[in-house]
Amino acid sequence: MKTVVPSEAPRQKPNPLEALNAQFDEAADILKMDADLAPLLKTPYRELHVQVALKRDNGRLEIVRGYRIQHNGVRGPYKGGIRYHHEVDRDEVLALATLMTWKTAVVDIPFGGAKGGVQIDPRQLSHSELKSLTRSYISRIDYVIGPQRDIPAPDVNTNEETMAWMMDEYGKRHGYTPAIVTGKPIALGGSYGRKEATGRGVVIAIREACKRLGMSLRGSTATVQGFGNVGNFAARFLSDEGTKVIAVTDVSGGIRNDRGLDIPALQEFALANKGKGIKGFPHGEEFDPEMLYDIPCDIFVPAALGETITDRTAPRLRCKIVAEGANNPCTKEGNDNLSERGITVIPDILCNAGGVTVSYFEWVQNLQQHRWKLEKVNSELEDVMVKAFEDVWTLSKKYNRPLRTGAYVLALDRIVQATKLRGI
Ligand code: NAD
Repeated sequence: MKTVVPSEAPRQKPNPLEALNAQFDEAADILKMDADLAPLLKTPYRELHVQVALKRDNGRLEIVRGYRIQHNGVRGPYKGGIRYHHEVDRDEVLALATLMTWKTAVVDIPFGGAKGGVQIDPRQLSHSELKSLTRSYISRIDYVIGPQRDIPAPDVNTNEETMAWMMDEYGKRHGYTPAIVTGKPIALGGSYGRKEATGRGVVIAIREACKRLGMSLRGSTATVQGFGNVGNFAARFLSDEGTKVIAVTDVSGGIRNDRGLDIPALQEFALANKGKGIKGFPHGEEFDPEMLYDIPCDIFVPAALGETITDRTAPRLRCKIVAEGANNPCTKEGNDNLSERGITVIPDILCNAGGVTVSYFEWVQNLQQHRWKLEKVNSELEDVMVKAFEDVWTLSKKYNRPLRTGAYVLALDRIVQATKLRGI
């Protein structure tokens, strides 16, 4: 039996936390925040690095690296997704955990921020290997999570099925505990509307931005990067609103149609393609996904991985709105370029907060053992997103800064208040 021992390789890319901390500092200055609080709020409460056992179907044992980082919990239990990706590392997980703290505060739900990840390319694993990896990961982080302590959720390359395995593994030690994870299948206590929630929230945020910018969703054009959970539903709800989605990319390739792609047909195609993506969709023209940035449109929705909008790609974008479905899609330089060119960026901590909002509804339903109807989920989500957008917009106008700064000011103010009230 062969054992592969992983090590934390030095990061090739810039640390994403630097850009987040620059945003934090700007908001802290605006709020004239007590300087002593900065280290408390910038650093994580707890970081767990674990060895995750991967039992291969051929009997080999491999060890891969896993993380759970809890950034801040002053407003409630830690909350954040779990990502399976070969580029997952400590800096990325910490940046994503930090974003969750600000995001839950922006939409004012009683959670803190956390994130988890396993450094693995899940496309290289069989179904049974994925399941055993998931069980091993949960057994390693078991003692820092809990329905009143830290509640994981899906993120890149994890889904309802992964959450079901996680709930089951946790339940072996703690008994029936559906509130331990959100994003579960409906049959196991998942919430109606959770699967679509992030994409639905993205489109609510875009609609609210359009209203204030004098644009109409109907007849506008959009391009979408990523056709996973967030991207496919964002594209779907945009097309339901009459927006022409003219290009979509995913890891398998790009597909475009200047008259507007048939998104319901593309969804069906991707589903039938069983994880192999959008490549081969017959009702559009294939193109190199790297060229997506060059396609003029009104609304660009990054909904894949982080740091795709950089000093290299941002100047190529010719759009009016960038709606951050993904977490941290803009590097600092990319963000600065968009701001300088007057492009409205709906920041991730507002734009994609619909997912964690409905995760919160799922958690509430699990604790009460009482299921909400889909209409109630969607109408409460609508209320939360519209209010958060209004709050962020108002602060951005008040301080004459981009929406991202408005969102950080809103979040930081709430977190500072909670910290002080707790007497920390
Ligand atoms: P997912 O795994 O369901 O989908 C990811 C998509 O990105 C896939 O379509 C994949 O093919 C595509 N992709 C990967 N590399 C690409 C590339 N180089 N070019 C184009 N497409 C590429 O993940 P998801 O849950 O949709 O998450 C997407 C982003 O949204 C992540 O940044 C995640 O953190 C963020 N997010 C997700 C949720 C949620 O509820 N799932 C909530 C908030 C934020």
